[in-house]
Amino acid sequence: MTPILITETKPEDWTYISEGGASIVFSYRGPRNVQFSDHVLRLRKVARGSLDNTLLDTNAEQPDDPMIAFQDNIISKLIPSELLASLVVVVLDEEWLRSLIDLRDADRPAGRRQTDQIDVHRKKGVLATDLIGGTPIAIEIKPKWGFLPRDCHLSPETVALKTATCRFCMHTSFMVKQGDFDTTYCPLDLFSRDEMRVRKALGDLWAGWYESGGSLNNLRFFVEGRMAKPDDDHSMKLLAHFFTADESTDAQNLQESFTTALAQALVDSPILPLLSTLQRTLDILDIEGLSKLHTQTSLDFPSEGLGSSVLDPSMEEWEDFVKVYHSDYHLWDHTAPSPGHLRHYLMAYLLSATFKDCSIIIRPRLHPLSTTQIGPARSFDATIIDMDIKSMNRLGKWEKLDRKIVEHYKSSAGQRRCIDSQRAS
Ligand SMILES: [Zn+2]
Repeated sequence: MTPILITETKPEDWTYISEGGASIVFSYRGPRNVQFSDHVLRLRKVARGSLDNTLLDTNAEQPDDPMIAFQDNIISKLIPSELLASLVVVVLDEEWLRSLIDLRDADRPAGRRQTDQIDVHRKKGVLATDLIGGTPIAIEIKPKWGFLPRDCHLSPETVALKTATCRFCMHTSFMVKQGDFDTTYCPLDLFSRDEMRVRKALGDLWAGWYESGGSLNNLRFFVEGRMAKPDDDHSMKLLAHFFTADESTDAQNLQESFTTALAQALVDSPILPLLSTLQRTLDILDIEGLSKLHTQTSLDFPSEGLGSSVLDPSMEEWEDFVKVYHSDYHLWDHTAPSPGHLRHYLMAYLLSATFKDCSIIIRPRLHPLSTTQIGPARSFDATIIDMDIKSMNRLGKWEKLDRKIVEHYKSSAGQRRCIDSQRAS
C-alpha cells in the first residue's frame, strides 16, 4: 500500500481540536480529498525544551505509532469493530510540522503550551476517523471507573471505604482539595443501566460542565467541529436545536432536554456494560492485591515499587494475554492469585487502566435524506476512542496515588455511598 503523506496537505488545512497528556489532535478542513476529508491527525507530544537536547538519528526507520497496532491486534479482540474509529499511519515531515506549530500553537491552552509541544522528529502520525467534524454536534463523555473493587484483597484500613465510595468520587474529593472544580457526577450511576440513575449521572455531568465553564473533562460538547463552552451563545443555540423541542437556551431546560435525549440511548447501548465488565475483570485484584502479589514474588527486591524494573510487554505478549483473558483467566482463583500469574495480572491491570481512561464520542444520527435536524435528536451513534497502551512504570505512581486518595477521603467529611449495580446482589 502506498504510504499516505502529510505533505499532500497544507498545514493551514488543519485546525486544532484538543489534546491530552501525550498527544494532540487536528481536524482536516482543506479541499475535498479522499484520504484526509473526515479525518483527524493525531500527533505525539514531547516536553518543552527536550527536542533541542536530544540527538536523534533522523535517518533511522521509526516504528508505526503503537496505538494503531494495539487497536488492530488487542483492542479489536475485546471491543466490536463497529464501536471503534479507524486508525491508519500517515508519514510526517519535520518542516511541515514546524509550520503547523507556527500556525496553530496559539490555539492551544496556555498551560499546555508551557509544558509540551508537538514532537517534530516523529516520522509517523495517526489518521483517524473524524468523529467531531462532519457532524453539527458531537458529545464526548469520559466515564472513568465503573465498578467497586471486591473486598478480598483490600486491607482492614481501606475495605470499608473502598467498597462504599467509588474511586472516582474519592478522587474528585481529593482533587477538589487541590483546587479543582467539584462535581456530583458518580460513574456508577452512569454505568447502572437504570434509566433514573443514568439520567441523574447525565444531569450531574451537565451541571459540572456548565458550572465549570466547560473545564471539566468528563463531558465536552463539540459544535461545528470546535469545542463548545457554556458562555458561547451560538453553541448553546445549536445544542438547544438538537436537544429541545422549543429551542430554548434556558440552562435548566437544556439540562433536562440533554438528559432525556441521551439517557435512553445510553441505557440501550452495549458500550457502558462492556467497558464496566472489562475494567472490573481486568482490575480483579485491586492495586492493593496486585501490590501484595508483587511483593510476594519479588522478595529479593522488597524496597522497589510496584512494576519497577518490569519490562513493558511486547505486542506478541499482549496478543497472548488476550488469548488467556478469553480462556483460562476466568477460571483462575482470583481470591488466591498464583504468583506464577503475576505478569498476567500486571498486564491485566494496565489494560483495565486503558479502559478506565477512554472516552465515548456520541453523535446524533441524522435522517439519511436530510442534513438538518428536525425535532430533538433521539438516536445516536457511539464510538470508543483514546485507548492508549499504558506502561509498567505507571504502576508505582498509581499505587501511591491510591493510598493518598483513600487516606484523604478517610480524613475528610465525605461519606458518599456509591452503588455498583452489578455488585448489588
Ligand atoms: Zn461514586
